[in-house]
Amino acid sequence: MEKKVSYDAFWMPFTANRNFKADPRIINRAEGMYCYSDNGTQLLDATAGLWCVNAGHGRKEIGEAMAKQVAELDYSSPFNFGHDIGFEFAERLVSFTPPGLNKVFFTNSGSEAVESALKIALAYQQAKGNTGKFKLIGRELGYHGVNFGGISVGGLTPNRKGFGPLLPTDHLSHTLDIANNAFSQGLPEHGADKAEQLEQLIQFHGADSVAAVIVEPISGAGGVILPPKGYLRRLREICSKHDVVLIFDEVITGWGRLGASFASEAFDVVPDLITSAKGITSGVVPLGAVFAKDEIYQTVVNSAPEGAVEFFHGYTYSGHPVACAAGLATLDIYQREGLLERASGEIGQYFQQGLHSLKDIPSIVDIRNYGLIGAIQFAEPQDGKPIGFDILKRCYDKGVMVRSMGNTIALSPPLIIEKQHIDVIVDTLSNIAKDIP
Ligand code: PLP
Repeated sequence: MEKKVSYDAFWMPFTANRNFKADPRIINRAEGMYCYSDNGTQLLDATAGLWCVNAGHGRKEIGEAMAKQVAELDYSSPFNFGHDIGFEFAERLVSFTPPGLNKVFFTNSGSEAVESALKIALAYQQAKGNTGKFKLIGRELGYHGVNFGGISVGGLTPNRKGFGPLLPTDHLSHTLDIANNAFSQGLPEHGADKAEQLEQLIQFHGADSVAAVIVEPISGAGGVILPPKGYLRRLREICSKHDVVLIFDEVITGWGRLGASFASEAFDVVPDLITSAKGITSGVVPLGAVFAKDEIYQTVVNSAPEGAVEFFHGYTYSGHPVACAAGLATLDIYQREGLLERASGEIGQYFQQGLHSLKDIPSIVDIRNYGLIGAIQFAEPQDGKPIGFDILKRCYDKGVMVRSMGNTIALSPPLIIEKQHIDVIVDTLSNIAKDIP
């Protein structure tokens, strides 16, 4: 294929630039469940882009809503001015959030949602008079975006190391336990006791110094790691006991991935703050949000004198009108097509059965899934070189797009997926996995 553009100037994120530019994978078009490469090859999107295109590609009504909004109001400052569509979208969003989380702080991305949530938690503790509470607790293998707060609480070593002293944090152990939970279906039976580490960390640092705990209900980028039964509930109890803000980073788990609006609903545990992005606009345009408990908003807002700015934080594009228009159109699609519940029904079951049918292939050491998110973990190759990226490339050559991390392949297809697409994904992975010694 003759190159139409130069690949020189674009410094690609989280990509082996030299390797990619020598053998690029260029996607110039997408529709429904499929992306199309520059030479026209049809590729089944088994990852909804980057865990975000939940309504499937090319939803015309989202584009139309955005175009209409640009013609009406392209932009207006969110500092000291407002626009109806921002308020309308916020009201609509909180009809999906767990009870009590009825305030929305808009950002442009998941990383910014995380930074904002951490700062809201700190502002809340200050406003409450808990002036010593500054420490933040994350979890090993957690991914909370790439900004300094996010990498401080994050638990993926390559994302942290080399970036100097980070914020004062500590970390819980991750909950991946292949020895006890391999190939289990639904939430793992073993490991709820790992939540007790939070009690220990709070005792160690002193409850008067710990402001917030942040976890992904299911760790995505760390390898699709599920919370053991009872684990999240125990975190909730410990946070309540010590006046520590519990943040669920639902950038991946929100918007139907687990068969409910949020993991919080799917797992019946309500945090104090939820971060969101990706599926909130079905990936069409950047938008993130923090959903906050009313009490947090009231405490922060009422701590400042009347007429004063209460929270010194915000973005030029917080609640951008065009992103809000995209978001409203996305929510219309989710509701009209029943997409947010779909993963908890027959299609989620079929996905689970399909993945678990690979269980006896010798190169596979674990299969994890919940709703329409899943992971297949391969045995570490003898040379120690992770095999995931190689499998990603082989899948691409066979017409399926997956995500790789280490020795794990992650799947998070658009929620419009049908059984025949699942069959293709499973067959492709099966053939590739059987070829791995
Ligand atoms: N938090 C979680 C759980 C994520 O999975 C991600 C991205 O994958 C982020 C935060 C960061 O989001 P973004 O890439 O939009 O900044």
